[in-house]
Amino acid sequence: MLLEVRDLRVEFRTRDGVAKAVDGVDYAVDAGETLAVLGESGSGKSVTAQAVMGILDTPPGRITGGEVLFRGRNLLELKEEERRRIRGAEMAMIFQDALSALNPVLTVGDQLGEMFTVHRGMSRKDARARAVELMDRVRIPAARERAGQYPHQFSGGMRQRIMIAMAIALEPALVIADEPTTALDVTVQAQVMDLLAELRREYRMGLVLITHDLGVVADVADRIAVMYAGRIVERAPVHDIYKAPAHPYTRGLLESVPRLDRKGGELYAIRGLPPNPVDVPPGCPFSPRCPMARDVCRTDAPALYEVSEGRRSACHFWRECLDG
Ligand code: ADP
Ligand code: MG
Repeated sequence: MLLEVRDLRVEFRTRDGVAKAVDGVDYAVDAGETLAVLGESGSGKSVTAQAVMGILDTPPGRITGGEVLFRGRNLLELKEEERRRIRGAEMAMIFQDALSALNPVLTVGDQLGEMFTVHRGMSRKDARARAVELMDRVRIPAARERAGQYPHQFSGGMRQRIMIAMAIALEPALVIADEPTTALDVTVQAQVMDLLAELRREYRMGLVLITHDLGVVADVADRIAVMYAGRIVERAPVHDIYKAPAHPYTRGLLESVPRLDRKGGELYAIRGLPPNPVDVPPGCPFSPRCPMARDVCRTDAPALYEVSEGRRSACHFWRECLDG
């Protein structure tokens, strides 16, 4: 397995108390595979990714447990220097907001070129040539001329392509994309998502695709991990989830996706709000919002039950959920 996150726990100390932002997360992704991590805002998707990449703000954040196995090595035990070497070269991250992730005072060609001068010891001239090649590869028109421009001179979609180019420059084994298309309009979203999927195939990268939009994952993901209140509530191959969700929260997310075949119908939204992370309800954290909840759900936290091969659900009543 390329990446295995095991029982990861991250806390933040806040004025209101300790927030368990990540509360025992397990997920895995193999080479050439796409894992979509899904869940409403605040469910711990980004914090999990930051802990994996080694870019968590500490303090206020603190990793209090678990392992991040990358090619079998627990990254949480490595020195910062070693982690920095792995970051960029072996694993890279794509963020939602390219404008703040890119350096505003360096031309795009220089920024991309730096990947090769710093990490590969190339000459500036060779590095620039590689930068232009990369810009071509992510289909930025007139790459040679545009390499001399600054990030703010590009459109949102083009900037996102530049960040993708930065991420894949050193051909990392793993890329984590955190809501990479959220800030873009729908057509551009689809193009950027297609590009990512294509590069993932070409380079046989493992891709962790974080999104709150189930609509975009059907075509690109192999497996899905659904997060709620810092935990995984369902993990499954993508077609299983679309056939029948095994957790009421997943069902709620699915039914919130606008569908052409349900024209005129009311858009289902999950009632209520996710819990405050410093005050997560006992039992199943989803129980206050769950249309299926019974007494046991409010007192006993469900285990992550095995539903079938490769599929798990943290719902006491996953069988009923599967049956609709
Ligand atoms: P998601 O990416 O799923 O929207 P995050 O992983 O960003 O959610 O956040 C998970 C939880 O951790 C949230 O409740 C958020 O308030 C908390 N959190 C994240 N970053 C910080 C921080 N720097 N300080 C305090 N709390 C934080
Ligand atoms: Mg996030």
